[in-house]
Amino acid sequence: AGLIGHPPVRTTCPYCGVGCGVLATPDGQGGAAIAGDPEHPANFGRLCSKGAALGETLGLETRLLHPLARNDNGVLERVGWDTALDRIARTLAATIDRHGPESVAFYLSGQLLTEDYYAANKLAKGFLGTANVDTNSRLCMASSVAGHKRAFGSDTVPGVYEDLDEADLVVLVGSNAAWCHPVLFRRIEAARARRGTRLVVIDPRRTATGDEADLFLPVNAGKDTIIFSGLLVWLAENGALDEAYIARHTSGFDVALATARQLAPSLASAAAQAGVSVEALTAFYRLFAQTPRVVTCYSQGVNQSAQGTDKVGAIINCHLATGRIGRVGSGPFSLTGQPNAMGGREVGGLANQLAAHMDFSPANIDRVRRFWQAPRLAEREGLKAVEMFDAIAGGRIKALWVMGTNPAVSLPKADRVREALRQLDFLVISDNVAANDTIGCNPHLLLPALAWGEKDGTVTNSERCISRQRAFLPPPGEAKADWWAITEVARRLGHEAAFGWEGAADIFREHAALSAFENAGTRDFDLTGLTDLDPPSYDTLPPTQWPRPDRGAEAATRFFAEGRFYTPDGRARFIAPEPPQVHEACSKSHNLLLNTGRIRDQWHTMTRSGLSPRLGAHLPVPFAELNADDAAGLGILDGSLVRVESVHGSVVVEARLCPGQRPGTVFVPIHWSEATSSAGRVGGVIAGTADPYSGQPELKATPVAIERV
Ligand code: SF4
Repeated sequence: AGLIGHPPVRTTCPYCGVGCGVLATPDGQGGAAIAGDPEHPANFGRLCSKGAALGETLGLETRLLHPLARNDNGVLERVGWDTALDRIARTLAATIDRHGPESVAFYLSGQLLTEDYYAANKLAKGFLGTANVDTNSRLCMASSVAGHKRAFGSDTVPGVYEDLDEADLVVLVGSNAAWCHPVLFRRIEAARARRGTRLVVIDPRRTATGDEADLFLPVNAGKDTIIFSGLLVWLAENGALDEAYIARHTSGFDVALATARQLAPSLASAAAQAGVSVEALTAFYRLFAQTPRVVTCYSQGVNQSAQGTDKVGAIINCHLATGRIGRVGSGPFSLTGQPNAMGGREVGGLANQLAAHMDFSPANIDRVRRFWQAPRLAEREGLKAVEMFDAIAGGRIKALWVMGTNPAVSLPKADRVREALRQLDFLVISDNVAANDTIGCNPHLLLPALAWGEKDGTVTNSERCISRQRAFLPPPGEAKADWWAITEVARRLGHEAAFGWEGAADIFREHAALSAFENAGTRDFDLTGLTDLDPPSYDTLPPTQWPRPDRGAEAATRFFAEGRFYTPDGRARFIAPEPPQVHEACSKSHNLLLNTGRIRDQWHTMTRSGLSPRLGAHLPVPFAELNADDAAGLGILDGSLVRVESVHGSVVVEARLCPGQRPGTVFVPIHWSEATSSAGRVGGVIAGTADPYSGQPELKATPVAIERV
């Protein structure tokens, strides 16, 4: 029916972790005019190309509008919601009876709203007894989570966006922020214009971000730890440590420094290992040492690594060593990839977290069990994404519910993932599109989910700011909120009382109450001040940063200002990283290193951003960026079709000769797939060795061969 004459609805962009506020004005015909929200503290009215084009992605042409079930002939046919939900409840119960609770798994998404995430986590961990609940956020920032917990004792992002306005030096590591966090990058550019903030970019590729830098360090793949170990040594040898801070607020410094000296015994050694000049490295070290206000932002180049947690630790070490954390304009800062990766972390959407930033300690298990009145709470960590799909391939997981993500494209060894999905005894997919590569893997049930503009709940951005996503369009067809489908299954399993929610506000209130249950004030994640939000207050909730210990009170915006951390002794821990290793070595036949990532105008597997002709025009076909000398040696011209092949699989894309590409390396974007473009699905090529602490797979360094086709 539309909402003609309705004032703009305040909502939040569904793409990256910047979390920009959006004003959506419905046109009454299923579309909406989109503008940036001038009052949202993340963007103050600005939007990037993707956010500005949201209005072009609201059509129903590609939508899944009714539940579908696979019939005896293997064909998906329309069924009613009751039939679908009855079948899920019946099959999950039978699978658990026959094979145990850990034969059931949930694979979730940083696209889900916090309320959807909370409901799925509660059903699985509390009432089915399986902690096999993981998320595509494992591919996004799990190494930041692990790095925070190692150093701070908690998964706490110390700083806020305002620090980027107030810094005199911003260091971007493994981040093409100009394309991937564009509105935040504009904030950095504004600070440069206003106060002369210097910008250092450390990245194997010279991207649009590197082009803007005052100093660009083209680091060898995987050697970020060497650069920051060398920095720690340099700070120690040049009188740039904050000895008093180290003594009062930290532990482990001597071991960390000794390890750094082994990894980077001299400036020349550090420069040689990192693949940068001694002059450039010295310039960076001097700048860091001489600038009290430094923010070091890191993103997927750090996280998507077989040693990502160590890289995060090496960066945090340098901030602890200089006391530059918890202060205005200073700190390490993880740039989250997805719109609600943070919300997923908050509810326990990762297999190694229980709920509300609590892990699986006996005390937390007891606390959560009592809060949920959960009859069969999972008592040990579940399988992380890569392990989960290995367990599916090995037949240990029999039933999987996928929500809002496309693992047949996005996970490493994606061909193997596709085969694993096809052999499941029971595969349920909740999504808002009727076709993608994962849906092509013979699901038993397809459930139509609400999309952006229709669903209602909250997301948390990179600076811990909770914002409302509000509905401004009516639900199409029979599409339903994911939390509703989960709740209906839980009720069919006999858990009516624990899943008695009538709306998203009820779930949020319970989520906030769990954060405050018994130990409020002793943990970082505290929403005590939001536990009594009634539906009208939830509807009008303004962007709200956590912690929120008191209703109405402004909480401290930065963590660790007092130098107290969430470790048992209250001190931050220095980390002694392992030496960077080659996890899959180049060979004579596979002698180029494949790096993958995003492009400016597309999002994930393009099921939404691909609907906008304007966004599609930027880089319309899947491609591989190559160094011109490498290309010449292989007889490849700009525009040639090439096959990029690893021992795991291959992809055919168009070659683009690119001056920013280091010799010996190739870059292929992640967005294309068989369902959307019949080509360019790079996930099948990627090795995906997982980080030992975080389980996050390496997506930046797979040996490949390239040939013209
Ligand atoms: Fe959306 Fe990120 Fe662009 Fe902001 S910067 S409009 S959150 S995609």
